[in-house]
Amino acid sequence: MAKYSSKINKIRTFALSLIFIGFIVMYGGIFFRTSPLIMTIFMLFGLLFIIASTVVYFWIGMLSTKSVHVKCPSCGKQTKMLGKVDMCMYCREPLTLDPKLEGKEFDETYNKKNRENK
Ligand SMILES: [Zn+2]
Repeated sequence: MAKYSSKINKIRTFALSLIFIGFIVMYGGIFFRTSPLIMTIFMLFGLLFIIASTVVYFWIGMLSTKSVHVKCPSCGKQTKMLGKVDMCMYCREPLTLDPKLEGKEFDETYNKKNRENK
């Protein structure tokens, strides 16, 4: 397994795990059936996680419109990239829009530096 994955894929995984956490928390509330207050708190927390994941999914949609469509030089597929450096969604080939970074080892900190400068 590669250490990095495409950013969009990563956010998607994050949103999906939020839904799972939400359901697990809600399920946990069942164990406190005897106390309606605690159960309600669990249900609300679970709901909160699910709402958060919806927000994240919405965010992915926003990001997707801003992402750059590039043809991956490695596998030839059309992929989306975010920021200066990202990975191919299909073959995890590191991609960059900045010629200065071309050939350098893939490092996500390039994006962070970029963000700090803004
Ligand atoms: Zn590729």
